[in-house]
Amino acid sequence: MEKIYDNKKKKRVCHLCTEKITKIDYKDVNLLKRHITERGKIISRRTTGLCARHQRKITHLIKRARHLALLPFSVN
Ligand SMILES: [Zn+2]
Repeated sequence: MEKIYDNKKKKRVCHLCTEKITKIDYKDVNLLKRHITERGKIISRRTTGLCARHQRKITHLIKRARHLALLPFSVN
């Protein structure tokens, strides 16, 4: 049987590792926004494909950005 969905087998790499982003700032709202839903919830690693290190960093920064009112806690 032919493999049609070959790309599914490809190893998912964290896009932050690929772009060699090691230093992320809490002021990087555009980047952080890519990791929250339109309702303001943090998107899980399963969905984004981030590595553990980056996911932890992103989560931390989102929480900080929320505290500084750069990102919403929840959107109604
Ligand atoms: Zn990474």
